[in-house]
This record gives sequence, structure tokens and C-alpha cells, in this order.
Amino acid sequence: MKARLGEEWPAFLSALDTPPPTSVRLHPRKGEGLFSSVAGVPWHPLGRVLTNRPHFESDPLWHAGAYYVQEASGMSVRLFLPEGKPLRVIDLSAAPGGKATLVLGEIGWEGGLLVANDPDPLRRVALRENLERWGIPAYIITGRHPRWWAERYPGAFDVVILDAPCSGEGLWRRDPKALCLWSPSHSQRMQRLQRSLLFSALQLVAPGGILIYSTCTYAPQENEENLAYVFSEAAAWEPIEWTSPPPAVQTVAYGEAGGIGYYFYPHRGPGEGFFISAWRRRGKRGHFRSVPLRISRKKSPYVLPHELLAFSRGEGLYGLTATAAEVFLPGLAEEKWEAFPLWRHSRPSHAAALLDRGMQQAFPERVLEEGEFDAYLRGEVFSFRFPFEWVTYQGRGIGWLYRGRPSLPLTWKRFLRNR
Ligand code: SAM
Repeated sequence: MKARLGEEWPAFLSALDTPPPTSVRLHPRKGEGLFSSVAGVPWHPLGRVLTNRPHFESDPLWHAGAYYVQEASGMSVRLFLPEGKPLRVIDLSAAPGGKATLVLGEIGWEGGLLVANDPDPLRRVALRENLERWGIPAYIITGRHPRWWAERYPGAFDVVILDAPCSGEGLWRRDPKALCLWSPSHSQRMQRLQRSLLFSALQLVAPGGILIYSTCTYAPQENEENLAYVFSEAAAWEPIEWTSPPPAVQTVAYGEAGGIGYYFYPHRGPGEGFFISAWRRRGKRGHFRSVPLRISRKKSPYVLPHELLAFSRGEGLYGLTATAAEVFLPGLAEEKWEAFPLWRHSRPSHAAALLDRGMQQAFPERVLEEGEFDAYLRGEVFSFRFPFEWVTYQGRGIGWLYRGRPSLPLTWKRFLRNR
């Protein structure tokens, strides 16, 4: 690092001794008007750098999915996302959902389908909660190894994101425990894993599509050296360069095929250590081999935004935006995946209250006043007039009142248990 940073070395070292800044990314719709007086993140118009770290779990707007707490450097993924829509995107290591919610914010309801994949079942719990809170139902969640995807769906995606597991050197300031896990052999193991994941990821990219690779480590063997190895004979690929890289970023050139990577450092910008680089597969974007979702479509028990398709799987009722259902992958309907829940156990699901297109047409709205929020979260009994009341706070859905009781998200149940 000393060699790489030269004169900047002391500044880098002292940045590691300062408290990490807290940043959030606003929801494109639910986040409107929030945190308007704080600094922005230069590479994401909805990124905000806070001046303190509030207790997010006590904030009703966090529960409403009005913003996502995300380290700022990772928001740079946005700079590589293509404009053309609809897009079929796969995030191979998606948990807990930082990049996945960012992608959903970009593709929105009409922009395509996101496959949010992560093989770790525990981390998928957080992924599920975060995607539900975000409330844009253009995704499915899967738990496969990237190889599984590569074998079945070569060339199927316009964007493949591999935010790879890594030695985590860029996280030492925020999470000193990551330092204790570090060793040279750990980094070597990670390199081997990343290379095999990269080879799977490459196969998934459609002609004209892009591969975005990132890690939160500084180790070159996990970053540019990996990519130089994988793209050593890159006739079919071209590197993607940012036209005007943010000043906080250090650019590195790598490999014979002209790769360009970007490093983010804590002394230069508002985020933690991070590396990102992307490649485009040459060729014209062909026609999707899409299949409209063939699955038991159901009439919803309540009025849905008309772009939303309801279908049943098992006992529940789930939803996907009409575009996502149209750009569906062949054969996937028979596989195991999860989608945005709309109705469960004879009631609207907690997630349905968080849909970013509101429930005002379907249910009577119960507006929570400032002082009522704590009582709502404690599960206190509220009087009610209708079987289901959609609970909102400052115009954003946060849950339900049914039969006098609130619906609480899992995070809250855990939080209250631990208190
Ligand atoms: N993209 C996430 C975000 O923005 O919130 C963070 C991803 S984290 C850096 C790396 C993820 O890789 C972890 O969630 C981990 O479960 C996942 N992972 C571990 N082994 C993997 C493998 N063999 N294939 C794919 N993902 C893996």
C-alpha cells in the first residue's frame, strides 16, 4: 500500500483512525425530500453522507424503505449500468442487498428483471428483508452457486454483477473484526474462489452485455490480477472506462487487453476501501430468449397497481412487475426461487404494505402520528374500524393493522426480543 499510495500513505493511515462516515442511498420515490441538507455522494445522485449515525432501527422511514444504509464507495456500481431497457440483471453474490436495491432503483417497475442470488441461506434472510422493504417487485431471489447459473443460462443476462467474497481489507476501519480474519493464505484462497466465480460469471453475459466485478479489498491479486488473468485473451471483450472518473478514485490499468480498474480509498472520499472494474462482451445485443412467466396466475384479493402480476406458489400469493414476468428465463418457473410476497395466512403480507406504489386504492389508510410510532412498534393494540388498515407514516407505508394488531417486520421482532 505504501508503494502504491506514495505521498498519500500518511493520509491513508490517519483516515483509518477516524470514525467511518455513514451514508445512505435514498429510494427514488419513497426517499424524496429526505436528508436534503447534507452532502451528496459524488457518484450517485441519491447518495447522502450523514453527519452522525442515527439509530436507524428506530426510524419509521427506514422501516418504510425510504432509504438504504450503504457505504458510499459501493454506490459506484451505478456508473456501469447501461441505459437500454428492459434489462435482465443477475447479482451473483447479492446479500444483504446493497447493489441489488441500487439496481432495482435504476430499473424500476418497467425496466426488467433482477435475479438476486446468494448461496448463503442466512445472508439471504437479510437480503429478503431488504428487498421487501425497498418495495420494487421486479426481482426473484435464488440461492444457487454461480456455476449452476452458468451451466443453465449461458449468455442470458445484460448485466452480471459479481461483488465477490474477498479478504475485506477495505472494511478494517468500519469493522475491525475483519482485520482479525485476514492472513496471506486467506487472501490466496479468496483469489482462487474469485477466479472460479469469475469464469462462471463471464459465461452468463449476453453479447453486448456487461460484467461488473467488485471487491472491498485492496489486494491486487484479488482485483486487477484476477481480471488480467481471466481476460488475458480478451478478443471477445472490451474494457469499460468511466469517461470522467470521480476525483476520489485511483485508476489502475491492467493486463494486455487494456483493463481499467478503480480503487476507492477512505482518505480520498466518503466511503470505505473498494475496487471495481467492468467489461463488455462484444457483439450486438440480440433478442432475449424470454418466456412469459408460466405459473398459476391468480386474481389478487385486493387492487394491485395494474403493472403487477399476482401468482401463487405454495400457500402464498406473490407478485412480479409485468415487465419482469415478461423477460422471464426459460425453465426457471420449475426451479426454487422466491419473489415479493403479497398475501400470506389470509392477510396482506407485511411486504405488501411497503410496495412503493402504495396501497391507498385497496385499503383504508391509517396515518400514524409522530408519537404513535413507538407504540405501534411495541405491538400495542390500536383501535380499528376495518379488517385491514394500511399504516402509513409521512406518506409511506410501514405495515398493517389487522384485527387490532400491527404487522411487524422480522427485524423488529428480533430487535424487541433482544431489548
Ligand atoms: N453484493 C452485496 C451487497 O452489495 O450488499 C455484498 C456481497 S458480499 C461482498 C459477498 C457475498 O458473497 C456474501 O453475501 C456471500 O454469501 C457471497 N458468497 C460467498 N461464497 C460465494 C460463492 N461461492 N458464490 C457466490 N457468492 C458467494
